[in-house]
Amino acid sequence: MPGVSVCWPEKDPRYIDDGKQGQDWGFKLSISKKVLVTGGAGFIGSHLCERLVAEGDDVICLDNYYTGTKTNVQSLAELPNFELLRHDVTFPLYVEVDEIFNLACPASPIHYQFDPVQTTKTSVHGAINMLGLAKRTGAKILQASTSEVYGDPKIHPQMEEYLGNVNPIGPRACYDEGKRCAETLFFDYYRQHEVNIRVARIFNTYGPRMHPNDGRVVSNFIIQALSGEPLTVYGDGSQTRSFCFVDDLVNGLMSLMKAPDEIVGPINLGNPTELTIVQLAKMVIEIVGSKSIIEYRPLPQDDPMQRCPDISRAKNKLNWIPTVEVKEGLQKTIDHFTSNMQ
Ligand code: NAD
Ligand code: UDP
Repeated sequence: MPGVSVCWPEKDPRYIDDGKQGQDWGFKLSISKKVLVTGGAGFIGSHLCERLVAEGDDVICLDNYYTGTKTNVQSLAELPNFELLRHDVTFPLYVEVDEIFNLACPASPIHYQFDPVQTTKTSVHGAINMLGLAKRTGAKILQASTSEVYGDPKIHPQMEEYLGNVNPIGPRACYDEGKRCAETLFFDYYRQHEVNIRVARIFNTYGPRMHPNDGRVVSNFIIQALSGEPLTVYGDGSQTRSFCFVDDLVNGLMSLMKAPDEIVGPINLGNPTELTIVQLAKMVIEIVGSKSIIEYRPLPQDDPMQRCPDISRAKNKLNWIPTVEVKEGLQKTIDHFTSNMQ
């Protein structure tokens, strides 16, 4: 159940000025949800925490700071409805919460391949621990799954019914199979223990606060273009990705959490505008106004050749579509990197 807390009007952003309650007491009562965001100090998690705090939720941001940083949530640190908790999701957690967004997991290939065993543990043990917490507290729980569950897809665009084409023993398997097993656990806790679950399959997301050194294509290209270095295109650059701006993605995650209980997912969340990697490189060079050239490097093993979400389910069930055009989102991301590189 949501907690009842006493809020002092001049200090607390949760203060609800409805002109009805508590006028004679000098304070007002407000009901706020307690929301746990695992991986909350990461790229997507920090944007999600910002939005939840702004909505008046009581947010616990849990992170082990493997790829996330306190700086990402610095602007929230002093707020009374925000709390940082250093914890690793591979260990059990005892807190009382109403909702859980389970985002803890490194997302970029160089980070999740650095310690692949730990990556699988984070997805699998992390899911077990967070689902156990949801079961005990009766909290609603959302899993940040991924388009990587489709592997190197044989159908295009990818719809949720597609079962995927993942190499279970390749260098990406620790992430892909970890996330697939986490989905299995979510649906088994749903069927066996009636835990209130949501599963979002997130496609490539970009925006301010992306890790500058995580080797992902958007951050790499922007940094290379801004410093006049060659843009490193892997393979011949004909492989495709579909890039979703982080604000759109956070809207999708929040809509899924708020959706009626029968909408458990999985639901694809991504921007269906598909680009080849060479097109993306040229777009970044153009927006930055850079003199950088394109340099071709070997394609990493098991690199998916095409990726584009079918978002019909998100449109129909959540009334969600992304609204930020790639050029607009790239400009915002470039502005962020420009101010942080100075
Ligand atoms: P990120 O690396 O910025 O954030 C992950 C956060 O989880 C970091 O703050 C990290 O320190 C934390 N973390 C990692 N292992 C942990 C552990 N064992 N215990 C506690 N905290 C831990 O990545 P992101 O891009 O913000 O991704 C967030 C989530 O969304 C991830 O689950 C990722 O798999 C998923 N996702 C992201 C994308 C994308 O394009 N960014 C695409 C698909 C899915
Ligand atoms: N990529 C690239 N140059 C880079 C970084 C990545 O050409 O400097 C390619 C990579 O091989 C892949 C695509 O861009 O085909 C997206 O890579 P990223 O690591 O961002 O995401 P993922 O492969 O996990 O979708």
